[in-house]
Amino acid sequence: MTVRIPYVDEDLQALAEQAGRYAAERVAPGYLERDRTRVLDRALMREMGGLGLIGPELPEAFGGQGLGTLAAGVIHEAIARADLSMSYVNLLASLNGQILSQHAPPEVAGPWLAKVTRGEALLALALTEPRGGSDAANLRLRIEHVGGDYVVNGEKTSISAADQADAVIVFGRTGSVDAGAHGVTALFVPTDAPGLTRSRFDCHGQRAIGRGSLFFENVRVPLDHRLGDENRGFVQVMQGFDFSRALIGLQVLAVARAALDDAWAHAAQREAFGKPLAAFQGVSHPLAEFDTQIEAARLLCYQSLWLKDQGLPHSAEAAMCKWWAPKLAYDTIHQCLLSFGHGGYDRGVMEQRLRDVLGFEIGDGTAQIMKTIIARARAGRHAVPN
Ligand SMILES: Cc1cc2nc3c(=O)[nH]c(=O)nc-3n(C[C@H](O)[C@H](O)[C@H](O)COP(=O)(O)OP(=O)(O)OC[C@H]3O[C@@H](n4cnc5c(N)ncnc54)[C@H](O)[C@@H]3O)c2cc1C
Repeated sequence: MTVRIPYVDEDLQALAEQAGRYAAERVAPGYLERDRTRVLDRALMREMGGLGLIGPELPEAFGGQGLGTLAAGVIHEAIARADLSMSYVNLLASLNGQILSQHAPPEVAGPWLAKVTRGEALLALALTEPRGGSDAANLRLRIEHVGGDYVVNGEKTSISAADQADAVIVFGRTGSVDAGAHGVTALFVPTDAPGLTRSRFDCHGQRAIGRGSLFFENVRVPLDHRLGDENRGFVQVMQGFDFSRALIGLQVLAVARAALDDAWAHAAQREAFGKPLAAFQGVSHPLAEFDTQIEAARLLCYQSLWLKDQGLPHSAEAAMCKWWAPKLAYDTIHQCLLSFGHGGYDRGVMEQRLRDVLGFEIGDGTAQIMKTIIARARAGRHAVPN
Protein backbone atom coordinates (compact mmCIF):
# COMPACT_ATOMS: atom_id res chain seq x y z
CA MET A 1 0.00 0.00 0.00
CA THR A 2 1.73 3.16 -1.21
CA VAL A 3 0.48 6.57 -0.09
CA ARG A 4 0.05 9.18 -2.84
CA ILE A 5 2.68 11.92 -2.83
CA PRO A 6 1.69 15.53 -3.72
CA TYR A 7 4.69 15.92 -6.07
CA VAL A 8 3.51 12.89 -8.09
CA ASP A 9 0.89 14.14 -10.59
CA GLU A 10 -1.51 11.97 -12.65
CA ASP A 11 1.05 11.28 -15.41
CA LEU A 12 3.73 10.26 -12.92
CA GLN A 13 1.20 8.14 -11.04
CA ALA A 14 0.38 6.30 -14.29
CA LEU A 15 4.12 5.77 -14.86
CA ALA A 16 4.52 4.50 -11.28
CA GLU A 17 1.67 2.02 -11.77
CA GLN A 18 3.05 0.81 -15.11
CA ALA A 19 6.52 0.33 -13.59
CA GLY A 20 5.00 -1.32 -10.50
CA ARG A 21 3.04 -3.87 -12.57
CA TYR A 22 6.10 -4.65 -14.67
CA ALA A 23 8.35 -5.03 -11.61
CA ALA A 24 5.89 -7.30 -9.78
CA GLU A 25 5.45 -9.56 -12.82
CA ARG A 26 8.97 -9.63 -14.23
CA VAL A 27 11.53 -8.46 -11.63
CA ALA A 28 10.23 -9.76 -8.28
CA PRO A 29 10.13 -13.48 -9.21
CA GLY A 30 13.95 -13.66 -9.62
CA TYR A 31 14.83 -11.71 -6.44
CA LEU A 32 16.04 -14.69 -4.38
CA GLU A 33 17.66 -16.45 -7.34
CA ARG A 34 19.79 -13.45 -8.33
CA ASP A 35 21.06 -13.17 -4.74
CA ARG A 36 22.35 -16.72 -5.18
CA THR A 37 23.78 -16.46 -8.71
CA ARG A 38 25.12 -12.93 -8.10
CA VAL A 39 24.45 -11.92 -11.71
CA LEU A 40 22.41 -8.97 -12.87
CA ASP A 41 19.80 -10.06 -15.41
CA ARG A 42 20.80 -8.43 -18.72
CA ALA A 43 17.59 -9.59 -20.46
CA LEU A 44 15.54 -7.78 -17.80
CA MET A 45 17.75 -4.72 -18.22
CA ARG A 46 16.94 -4.64 -21.93
CA GLU A 47 13.23 -5.09 -21.20
CA MET A 48 13.33 -2.19 -18.76
CA GLY A 49 15.11 -0.07 -21.36
CA GLY A 50 12.57 -1.03 -24.04
CA LEU A 51 9.75 0.14 -21.75
CA GLY A 52 11.43 3.51 -21.14
CA LEU A 53 12.17 2.69 -17.49
CA ILE A 54 15.88 3.64 -17.54
CA GLY A 55 17.05 7.26 -17.31
CA PRO A 56 13.69 8.93 -18.15
CA GLU A 57 15.09 12.27 -16.97
CA LEU A 58 17.96 12.25 -19.47
CA PRO A 59 17.65 14.53 -22.51
CA GLU A 60 15.82 13.04 -25.49
CA ALA A 61 18.94 13.65 -27.61
CA PHE A 62 20.69 11.08 -25.39
CA GLY A 63 17.95 8.44 -25.40
CA GLY A 64 16.02 9.74 -22.39
CA GLN A 65 12.57 11.30 -22.29
CA GLY A 66 13.39 14.65 -20.64
CA LEU A 67 10.84 13.86 -17.91
CA GLY A 68 12.64 15.16 -14.82
CA THR A 69 14.02 13.34 -11.81
CA LEU A 70 10.59 12.85 -10.21
CA ALA A 71 9.93 10.35 -13.02
CA ALA A 72 13.18 8.59 -12.18
CA GLY A 73 12.01 8.53 -8.54
CA VAL A 74 8.70 6.75 -9.14
CA ILE A 75 10.45 4.13 -11.31
CA HIS A 76 13.16 3.66 -8.66
CA GLU A 77 10.54 2.86 -6.06
CA ALA A 78 8.82 0.33 -8.30
CA ILE A 79 11.94 -1.59 -9.34
CA ALA A 80 13.58 -1.47 -5.88
CA ARG A 81 10.44 -2.84 -4.25
CA ALA A 82 10.92 -5.92 -6.43
CA ASP A 83 14.74 -6.15 -6.24
CA LEU A 84 17.08 -3.50 -4.87
CA SER A 85 20.01 -4.86 -6.90
CA MET A 86 18.08 -4.54 -10.18
CA SER A 87 17.22 -0.92 -9.30
CA TYR A 88 20.96 -0.20 -9.41
CA VAL A 89 20.42 -0.30 -13.18
CA ASN A 90 18.24 2.79 -12.74
CA LEU A 91 20.51 4.45 -10.17
CA LEU A 92 23.71 4.02 -12.17
CA ALA A 93 21.99 5.18 -15.37
CA SER A 94 20.60 8.30 -13.69
CA LEU A 95 23.78 9.25 -11.84
CA ASN A 96 26.30 8.45 -14.56
CA GLY A 97 23.90 9.54 -17.30
CA GLN A 98 23.67 12.99 -15.76
CA ILE A 99 27.47 13.19 -15.53
CA LEU A 100 28.04 12.03 -19.11
CA SER A 101 25.31 14.17 -20.66
CA GLN A 102 26.63 17.28 -18.91
CA HIS A 103 30.39 16.76 -18.98
CA ALA A 104 31.35 14.42 -21.88
CA PRO A 105 31.71 15.52 -25.51
CA PRO A 106 28.45 14.61 -27.33
CA GLU A 107 30.27 12.17 -29.63
CA VAL A 108 31.29 10.14 -26.54
CA ALA A 109 28.10 10.63 -24.49
CA GLY A 110 25.67 10.03 -27.37
CA PRO A 111 26.38 6.40 -28.33
CA TRP A 112 26.98 5.30 -24.74
CA LEU A 113 23.84 6.88 -23.31
CA ALA A 114 21.75 5.44 -26.13
CA LYS A 115 22.96 2.00 -25.00
CA VAL A 116 22.42 2.81 -21.32
CA THR A 117 18.80 3.94 -21.79
CA ARG A 118 18.09 0.87 -23.98
CA GLY A 119 19.40 -1.33 -21.15
CA GLU A 120 22.34 -2.52 -23.23
CA ALA A 121 25.12 -1.00 -21.12
CA LEU A 122 25.84 -0.56 -17.43
CA LEU A 123 28.12 2.23 -16.16
CA ALA A 124 30.00 2.24 -12.84
CA LEU A 125 31.45 5.15 -10.90
CA ALA A 126 34.88 4.74 -9.30
CA LEU A 127 35.89 7.15 -6.59
CA THR A 128 36.82 5.09 -3.51
CA GLU A 129 40.41 3.88 -3.11
CA PRO A 130 41.96 1.37 -0.71
CA ARG A 131 43.21 4.16 1.58
CA GLY A 132 39.66 5.44 2.20
CA GLY A 133 36.36 6.63 0.79
CA SER A 134 35.08 9.31 3.18
CA ASP A 135 37.98 11.66 2.46
CA ALA A 136 37.06 11.25 -1.20
CA ALA A 137 39.04 14.16 -2.63
CA ASN A 138 42.29 12.86 -1.14
CA LEU A 139 42.71 10.24 -3.86
CA ARG A 140 45.91 8.91 -5.42
CA LEU A 141 45.09 7.04 -8.66
CA ARG A 142 47.42 8.70 -11.16
CA ILE A 143 46.37 10.20 -14.51
CA GLU A 144 49.19 11.52 -16.73
CA HIS A 145 49.56 12.85 -20.27
CA VAL A 146 51.61 10.44 -22.41
CA GLY A 147 51.73 11.14 -26.14
CA GLY A 148 48.22 12.01 -27.26
CA ASP A 149 46.48 10.08 -24.48
CA TYR A 150 45.88 9.98 -20.75
CA VAL A 151 47.55 7.04 -19.01
CA VAL A 152 45.97 5.75 -15.80
CA ASN A 153 47.73 3.82 -13.00
CA GLY A 154 46.35 2.82 -9.61
CA GLU A 155 43.49 1.05 -7.87
CA LYS A 156 39.84 1.75 -7.09
CA THR A 157 37.95 -0.39 -4.64
CA SER A 158 34.43 -1.13 -3.35
CA ILE A 159 32.97 -0.12 -6.71
CA SER A 160 29.38 -1.22 -7.38
CA ALA A 161 29.09 -3.47 -10.44
CA ALA A 162 32.87 -3.37 -10.85
CA ASP A 163 33.03 -6.68 -12.69
CA GLN A 164 29.73 -6.28 -14.60
CA ALA A 165 29.97 -2.69 -15.86
CA ASP A 166 30.69 -1.93 -19.50
CA ALA A 167 32.38 1.38 -18.76
CA VAL A 168 33.38 3.36 -15.68
CA ILE A 169 33.71 6.99 -14.66
CA VAL A 170 37.08 7.21 -12.89
CA PHE A 171 38.40 10.02 -10.71
CA GLY A 172 42.19 10.36 -10.59
CA ARG A 173 44.92 12.82 -9.71
CA THR A 174 46.36 15.04 -12.42
CA GLY A 175 47.55 17.76 -10.02
CA SER A 176 49.64 17.55 -6.86
CA VAL A 177 48.38 15.81 -3.72
CA ASP A 178 48.49 19.21 -1.96
CA ALA A 179 45.94 20.53 -4.46
CA GLY A 180 43.30 18.23 -2.91
CA ALA A 181 39.98 18.34 -4.75
CA HIS A 182 41.43 20.87 -7.21
CA GLY A 183 43.94 18.39 -8.64
CA VAL A 184 41.41 15.72 -9.64
CA THR A 185 40.27 14.85 -13.17
CA ALA A 186 37.41 12.54 -14.21
CA LEU A 187 37.72 10.17 -17.18
CA PHE A 188 35.27 7.86 -18.94
CA VAL A 189 36.89 4.44 -19.48
CA PRO A 190 35.37 1.42 -21.27
CA THR A 191 36.10 -1.62 -19.10
CA ASP A 192 37.59 -3.58 -22.03
CA ALA A 193 40.50 -1.10 -22.15
CA PRO A 194 43.85 -2.98 -22.18
CA GLY A 195 45.52 -2.89 -18.74
CA LEU A 196 42.24 -2.69 -16.79
CA THR A 197 41.49 -5.75 -14.64
CA ARG A 198 38.72 -6.35 -12.11
CA SER A 199 37.86 -8.39 -9.02
CA ARG A 200 34.60 -9.27 -7.23
CA PHE A 201 33.91 -9.17 -3.45
CA ASP A 202 31.66 -11.57 -1.54
CA CYS A 203 29.10 -8.98 -0.35
CA HIS A 204 26.66 -9.23 2.58
CA GLY A 205 23.76 -7.92 0.46
CA GLN A 206 23.08 -6.35 -2.95
CA ARG A 207 24.71 -9.51 -4.25
CA ALA A 208 23.34 -9.43 -7.79
CA ILE A 209 25.01 -6.09 -8.43
CA GLY A 210 28.08 -6.77 -6.28
CA ARG A 211 31.16 -4.70 -5.59
CA GLY A 212 34.79 -5.11 -6.49
CA SER A 213 38.12 -3.51 -7.30
CA LEU A 214 39.46 -2.03 -10.52
CA PHE A 215 43.20 -2.22 -11.21
CA PHE A 216 44.67 0.20 -13.77
CA GLU A 217 48.07 -0.60 -15.23
CA ASN A 218 49.11 1.86 -17.94
CA VAL A 219 45.52 2.11 -19.21
CA ARG A 220 45.41 4.51 -22.17
CA VAL A 221 42.36 6.76 -22.45
CA PRO A 222 41.74 9.20 -25.33
CA LEU A 223 41.82 12.89 -24.36
CA ASP A 224 38.21 13.35 -25.52
CA HIS A 225 37.08 10.89 -22.81
CA ARG A 226 37.74 13.51 -20.13
CA LEU A 227 34.65 14.66 -18.19
CA GLY A 228 34.69 18.36 -17.37
CA ASP A 229 37.92 20.31 -17.12
CA GLU A 230 41.31 18.96 -16.15
CA ASN A 231 41.90 19.29 -12.39
CA ARG A 232 38.26 20.31 -11.89
CA GLY A 233 36.65 16.90 -12.28
CA PHE A 234 35.93 16.49 -8.61
CA VAL A 235 34.35 19.89 -8.06
CA GLN A 236 32.32 19.87 -11.32
CA VAL A 237 31.31 16.23 -11.61
CA MET A 238 30.61 15.54 -7.93
CA GLN A 239 27.61 17.87 -8.11
CA GLY A 240 25.78 14.99 -9.80
CA PHE A 241 25.77 13.09 -6.53
CA ASP A 242 23.19 15.29 -4.85
CA PHE A 243 19.97 14.13 -6.48
CA SER A 244 21.13 10.51 -6.62
CA ARG A 245 21.08 10.54 -2.81
CA ALA A 246 17.33 11.17 -2.91
CA LEU A 247 16.98 8.30 -5.41
CA ILE A 248 18.88 6.03 -3.00
CA GLY A 249 16.47 7.13 -0.28
CA LEU A 250 13.51 6.06 -2.42
CA GLN A 251 15.22 2.76 -3.27
CA VAL A 252 15.67 1.66 0.33
CA LEU A 253 12.31 3.06 1.50
CA ALA A 254 10.58 1.04 -1.23
CA VAL A 255 12.16 -2.12 0.17
CA ALA A 256 11.00 -1.13 3.67
CA ARG A 257 7.49 -0.42 2.32
CA ALA A 258 7.34 -3.92 0.84
CA ALA A 259 8.45 -5.36 4.19
CA LEU A 260 5.79 -3.34 6.04
CA ASP A 261 3.05 -4.46 3.65
CA ASP A 262 4.04 -8.09 4.26
CA ALA A 263 4.24 -7.55 8.01
CA TRP A 264 0.80 -5.87 8.21
CA ALA A 265 -0.77 -8.70 6.19
CA HIS A 266 0.88 -11.29 8.45
CA ALA A 267 -0.17 -9.46 11.63
CA ALA A 268 -3.75 -9.26 10.41
CA GLN A 269 -3.91 -12.96 9.56
CA ARG A 270 -1.82 -14.88 12.12
CA GLU A 271 -3.38 -15.46 15.51
CA ALA A 272 -1.95 -15.80 19.03
CA PHE A 273 -3.94 -16.02 22.25
CA GLY A 274 -7.12 -16.22 20.14
CA LYS A 275 -6.66 -12.89 18.34
CA PRO A 276 -4.85 -11.57 15.26
CA LEU A 277 -1.30 -10.42 16.10
CA ALA A 278 -2.30 -6.90 15.00
CA ALA A 279 -4.68 -6.71 17.98
CA PHE A 280 -1.64 -6.64 20.28
CA GLN A 281 -0.24 -3.14 20.49
CA GLY A 282 3.21 -4.58 21.10
CA VAL A 283 3.07 -5.81 17.49
CA SER A 284 1.04 -3.10 15.75
CA HIS A 285 2.37 0.08 17.36
CA PRO A 286 6.03 -0.38 16.31
CA LEU A 287 4.80 -1.11 12.77
CA ALA A 288 2.57 1.99 12.90
CA GLU A 289 5.51 4.13 14.03
CA PHE A 290 7.77 2.86 11.24
CA ASP A 291 4.95 3.29 8.72
CA THR A 292 4.67 6.95 9.77
CA GLN A 293 8.39 7.58 9.46
CA ILE A 294 8.69 5.78 6.11
CA GLU A 295 6.03 8.06 4.60
CA ALA A 296 7.71 11.16 6.06
CA ALA A 297 11.09 10.13 4.63
CA ARG A 298 9.51 9.44 1.22
CA LEU A 299 8.12 12.97 1.20
CA LEU A 300 11.59 14.35 1.89
CA CYS A 301 13.05 12.31 -1.00
CA TYR A 302 10.38 13.55 -3.41
CA GLN A 303 10.83 17.10 -2.17
CA SER A 304 14.57 16.85 -2.91
CA LEU A 305 13.86 15.63 -6.45
CA TRP A 306 11.28 18.40 -6.93
CA LEU A 307 13.89 20.98 -5.81
CA LYS A 308 16.34 19.47 -8.32
CA ASP A 309 13.75 19.66 -11.12
CA GLN A 310 13.05 23.31 -10.21
CA GLY A 311 16.78 24.08 -10.44
CA LEU A 312 16.85 24.94 -6.71
CA PRO A 313 19.57 24.01 -4.18
CA HIS A 314 19.02 20.57 -2.68
CA SER A 315 22.39 19.38 -1.31
CA ALA A 316 21.31 19.46 2.34
CA GLU A 317 17.93 17.82 1.62
CA ALA A 318 19.57 15.06 -0.46
CA ALA A 319 22.10 14.43 2.33
CA MET A 320 19.18 14.19 4.80
CA CYS A 321 17.59 11.51 2.59
CA LYS A 322 20.86 9.63 2.34
CA TRP A 323 21.60 9.36 6.08
CA TRP A 324 18.03 8.93 7.28
CA ALA A 325 16.39 6.60 4.76
CA PRO A 326 18.89 3.66 4.83
CA LYS A 327 18.95 3.56 8.65
CA LEU A 328 15.18 3.90 8.86
CA ALA A 329 14.71 1.21 6.20
CA TYR A 330 17.04 -1.15 8.06
CA ASP A 331 15.29 -0.58 11.41
CA THR A 332 11.86 -0.98 9.78
CA ILE A 333 12.72 -4.26 8.06
CA HIS A 334 14.29 -5.53 11.30
CA GLN A 335 10.99 -4.89 13.10
CA CYS A 336 9.01 -6.49 10.25
CA LEU A 337 11.24 -9.56 10.35
CA LEU A 338 10.62 -9.95 14.09
CA SER A 339 6.86 -9.80 13.57
CA PHE A 340 7.15 -13.05 11.55
CA GLY A 341 8.61 -14.88 14.55
CA HIS A 342 10.89 -17.82 13.71
CA GLY A 343 9.80 -17.70 10.05
CA GLY A 344 11.48 -14.30 9.63
CA TYR A 345 14.84 -15.84 10.48
CA ASP A 346 14.69 -18.34 7.60
CA ARG A 347 16.67 -17.61 4.44
CA GLY A 348 14.24 -15.68 2.27
CA VAL A 349 12.83 -12.37 1.17
CA MET A 350 12.80 -10.63 4.57
CA GLU A 351 16.39 -11.32 5.62
CA GLN A 352 17.58 -10.51 2.09
CA ARG A 353 15.84 -7.14 2.25
CA LEU A 354 17.69 -6.43 5.51
CA ARG A 355 21.05 -7.30 3.95
CA ASP A 356 20.26 -5.31 0.80
CA VAL A 357 19.41 -1.97 2.43
CA LEU A 358 22.33 -2.09 4.88
CA GLY A 359 24.80 -1.44 2.06
CA PHE A 360 23.43 2.05 1.58
CA GLU A 361 24.32 3.01 5.16
CA ILE A 362 27.88 3.00 3.76
CA GLY A 363 27.76 3.23 -0.06
CA ASP A 364 27.68 6.74 -1.58
CA GLY A 365 28.87 8.20 1.74
CA THR A 366 28.19 7.33 5.37
CA ALA A 367 25.74 9.02 7.75
CA GLN A 368 28.56 10.98 9.38
CA ILE A 369 29.63 12.47 6.06
CA MET A 370 26.01 13.30 5.14
CA LYS A 371 25.48 15.07 8.47
CA THR A 372 28.65 17.08 7.86
CA ILE A 373 27.21 18.19 4.50
CA ILE A 374 24.00 19.29 6.26
CA ALA A 375 25.99 21.10 8.97
CA ARG A 376 28.05 22.89 6.31
CA ALA A 377 24.89 23.99 4.48
CA ARG A 378 23.39 25.35 7.67
CA ALA A 379 26.43 26.75 9.53
CA GLY A 380 28.56 27.67 6.52
CA ARG A 381 31.79 26.28 5.07
CA HIS A 382 33.91 28.55 7.29
CA ALA A 383 32.41 26.85 10.36
CA VAL A 384 32.50 23.30 8.93
CA PRO A 385 35.57 23.22 6.64
CA ASN A 386 35.71 19.39 6.25
C1 LIG B 1 27.17 -1.17 -0.95
C2 LIG B 1 28.29 -0.25 -1.29
C3 LIG B 1 28.39 0.28 -2.56
C4 LIG B 1 29.46 1.14 -2.88
N1 LIG B 1 29.56 1.59 -4.17
C5 LIG B 1 30.58 2.42 -4.50
C6 LIG B 1 30.76 2.86 -5.84
O1 LIG B 1 30.00 2.49 -6.75
N2 LIG B 1 31.79 3.70 -6.13
C7 LIG B 1 32.66 4.12 -5.16
O2 LIG B 1 33.56 4.90 -5.49
N3 LIG B 1 32.55 3.70 -3.88
C8 LIG B 1 31.53 2.86 -3.53
N4 LIG B 1 31.42 2.39 -2.24
C9 LIG B 1 32.39 2.81 -1.25
C10 LIG B 1 31.81 3.85 -0.29
O3 LIG B 1 31.54 5.05 -0.95
C11 LIG B 1 32.79 4.02 0.89
O4 LIG B 1 32.83 2.78 1.57
C12 LIG B 1 32.36 5.10 1.84
O5 LIG B 1 32.49 6.37 1.25
C13 LIG B 1 33.17 5.09 3.15
O6 LIG B 1 34.53 4.98 2.88
P1 LIG B 1 35.40 3.85 3.63
O7 LIG B 1 34.68 2.57 3.50
O8 LIG B 1 36.77 3.91 3.09
O9 LIG B 1 35.38 4.23 5.14
P2 LIG B 1 36.32 5.30 5.87
O10 LIG B 1 36.40 6.53 5.06
O11 LIG B 1 37.58 4.62 6.25
O12 LIG B 1 35.47 5.59 7.19
C14 LIG B 1 35.31 4.59 8.21
C15 LIG B 1 34.34 5.10 9.25
O13 LIG B 1 34.80 6.35 9.80
C16 LIG B 1 33.83 7.36 9.64
N5 LIG B 1 34.46 8.64 9.31
C17 LIG B 1 35.41 8.89 8.39
N6 LIG B 1 35.70 10.20 8.36
C18 LIG B 1 34.89 10.80 9.27
C19 LIG B 1 34.70 12.14 9.72
N7 LIG B 1 35.38 13.17 9.19
N8 LIG B 1 33.79 12.37 10.69
C20 LIG B 1 33.07 11.35 11.23
N9 LIG B 1 33.21 10.07 10.85
C21 LIG B 1 34.10 9.79 9.88
C22 LIG B 1 32.96 6.90 8.47
O14 LIG B 1 31.65 7.47 8.52
C23 LIG B 1 32.95 5.39 8.68
O15 LIG B 1 31.97 5.05 9.61
C24 LIG B 1 30.39 1.50 -1.90
C25 LIG B 1 30.30 0.97 -0.60
C26 LIG B 1 29.26 0.09 -0.31
C27 LIG B 1 29.20 -0.50 1.07
